[in-house]
Amino acid sequence: MTDPKPKQKKPRGVARLLDGKCIACGARCQSSCPVNCIEMTDTGEPIVEADKCIGCQKCIKICPSTALEMFFTVEEQKILAELAALALPVEEEIDPEAAVLARKLAEYRGVWVFVEQTEGEPAKVSWELLGVGAELAEKLGVELSAMVIGENVEHLCLEAFAHGATRVYLMDAPVYYHYRTEAYVEASCHLIEKYKPEVILMGATGMGRDLAGAIATRVGTGLTADCTGLSIDEKRNLMQTRPAFGGNIMATIMCDKYRPQMSTVRPNVMPMPERREGAVGTIIRDTFTVPEDSVLTKVIEIIRDSHSKGTVDITGAEFIVSGGRGMMAPENFALLQELADELGGVVGASRSAVDAGWMPGDRQVGQTGKTVRPKIYIACGISGAIQHLVGMQDSDMVIAINRDGSAPIFEVATYGIVGDLFQVVPAITAKIRSLKQAKH
Ligand code: FAD
Repeated sequence: MTDPKPKQKKPRGVARLLDGKCIACGARCQSSCPVNCIEMTDTGEPIVEADKCIGCQKCIKICPSTALEMFFTVEEQKILAELAALALPVEEEIDPEAAVLARKLAEYRGVWVFVEQTEGEPAKVSWELLGVGAELAEKLGVELSAMVIGENVEHLCLEAFAHGATRVYLMDAPVYYHYRTEAYVEASCHLIEKYKPEVILMGATGMGRDLAGAIATRVGTGLTADCTGLSIDEKRNLMQTRPAFGGNIMATIMCDKYRPQMSTVRPNVMPMPERREGAVGTIIRDTFTVPEDSVLTKVIEIIRDSHSKGTVDITGAEFIVSGGRGMMAPENFALLQELADELGGVVGASRSAVDAGWMPGDRQVGQTGKTVRPKIYIACGISGAIQHLVGMQDSDMVIAINRDGSAPIFEVATYGIVGDLFQVVPAITAKIRSLKQAKH
């Protein structure tokens, strides 16, 4: 047996400024230093206190102009050269900060979906989120759980199992009958602190947006709103993609230092998972309640949107005929209504048409309107700006009618018709009518 090779400690060196390279970016190096060994001059350049520097290289990594380098003494350079030449085993230096972070992150496991309900009626987006949640949970090798809060809501646990959850955290008490931020935040944070999930998904609805923001603030983590894509990287981080800068670019956001990682997703963005009839799982009942007296908000009455006169819910429609600026005038939308009636669908609009006052705001499709996923989406006189596309591009079939053959809408269209919509739309309506008549 030969003696194991002695372990040689690898010199860490100290950070040093290179002459003339600093661009005075605003003291990023100083704020990244974990041991406060960087002072700034009046001209915004760093002075590194060599005897305090621990050689962590954080300032070097953050410097946008590569104005800092690692400096090694002649003795240290010799050791480095020896290590390289002899391939001596190097004693792995553990960054204490990174080790603490890794331990903290490892305490959190599991993907959770908040099941939104109003008077026991679930929001469809919760099931859509269980679909994407299942993919994330599989990649992470963890369980997919649902968080159900309300009164007499046990039936939602079974629905959650049918949509992919294998575990449900249930809080069932009178104080949770109506959604109120104070009570739901207390309840959710109690569960999060007790069971420590690594990912929480919520619908980007009025309730989800309100609750997610309040929870993230309370537990001290990040939240990405209105995500359009979710996946996992090799370090178990949730990659949260959403439109940024007015929808002109897609940004992928990560929350790599805090847990849980929280995202909201709008209804209809994620596909509905297949229903697993009769699926079962584990229900964890938690009896934690909030005293009614401590909740200042009282719900007097719930007035549902669908009760308001003339409101059309385009998000649930299977067929949508949408019009844009190419419609030219509000009265021309009657053409689209005729086609929609033949199909049993509804009329949608681009923002230009809404801004012009041709259609009400609840018909707007797109980034600042609704996200839709119908079987057929017919875009008439809509150019296909990215802000419109993000709201309809996941439709099963897109038919675009535009007289400009190079309009971007054709890039997402299943079928494109280059022509005048005032001729094409009535022709399609007439054809459908005659086919229907021939059938009877
Ligand atoms: P235009 O771009 O003017 O296109 C009209 C089209 O009609 C043209 O392609 C033209 O060739 C065609 N046309 C004209 N006459 C005829 C005819 N007779 N027959 C056939 N075709 C014809 N937009 C949305 O839609 N939804 C949103 O949610 C949204 N959110 C936004 C958020 C932000 C922050 C910003 C900055 C913008 C947003 N927009 C949104 C606006 C978006 O950028 C576009 O301006 C808008 O979608 C354009 O609407 P349009 O396609 O109807 O009009």
